[in-house]
Amino acid sequence: MKWVKGLALMAGVVSLAACGNEQADEVSEDNPLNVVATTSMIADLMETIGGENVSVEGLMGPGVDPHDYQPSTSDVNAMSEADIVAYNGLMLEERFVEVFEQLDERGVFTIVMADALNEGELLDPEEDEENLEYDPHIWFSVSHWETITAYAADQLSEKDPDNEDYYQENAEAYLVELGELRTYIEERIEEVPEQSRYLVTAHDAFQYFGEEFNFEVVGLQGLNTQTEAGTGDISQLADFLVDNEINAVFVESSVSPRNIEALIEAAGSRGHEVVNAGELYSDALGSEEDDAETYLKMYRANIDTIVDGLAD
Ligand SMILES: [Zn+2]
Repeated sequence: MKWVKGLALMAGVVSLAACGNEQADEVSEDNPLNVVATTSMIADLMETIGGENVSVEGLMGPGVDPHDYQPSTSDVNAMSEADIVAYNGLMLEERFVEVFEQLDERGVFTIVMADALNEGELLDPEEDEENLEYDPHIWFSVSHWETITAYAADQLSEKDPDNEDYYQENAEAYLVELGELRTYIEERIEEVPEQSRYLVTAHDAFQYFGEEFNFEVVGLQGLNTQTEAGTGDISQLADFLVDNEINAVFVESSVSPRNIEALIEAAGSRGHEVVNAGELYSDALGSEEDDAETYLKMYRANIDTIVDGLAD
């Protein structure tokens, strides 16, 4: 009968282990979900909605260009061990394509921001953008970010149904703040005369902003920072500045200012004075020192820079 006793003992051990596991699975402040996010905008959103139930690791800090970012071995390890991997999609993280495929194969739970939107809500890239099917800079539409907020809350709730109410409450509170942000943007934009509502920047990150808030947006480089601006583009855009009497252009925190400086020079050689009106956050949030470390602060900082640069 010795073996029966052994079996019973083993069964006891197994059920004990299962019980222990179950307790460890309960998500709480002491046992948060491990979330790995690619860009800082996404890390901020996951922290906001996940609150104390998540521990978020953002792979790309201030000033980092996601089009160009190559995931390191430790990034890949962090993603494969994460409870949730959150990323933008639409080829923003161009060098992550294989890693994302591997995560899918391994069954890692992913939240893809672009999945919140349907095709009709996405902007098409320009014809010469070979690698992109859609414009990936979806966070600059506040209404898209609202849709994405609701989607992320639903996805977090799917992963952790016990805390659904908590995630939904956090999302609702955040949607109120996004509404306040929209009001702030609309009010400040009123300070810019309609004929001056041109946003000329280093690369084409602001089309969703332009569509939502009626700005004409021109990026010196295309949607993808890896396509270089040629001297032809610079001289064409210099003509555009002259023709439309545009006196202010903007650099971006995650793109070298070199091309914008060349553009200012080219306009100057046409007898048209253009100033560098400051730095915008495009594909990454700022630091705490910049007071631009959250999506809400980043967007306000951008609007202040844009309006102060373009208002009379
Ligand atoms: Zn970009």
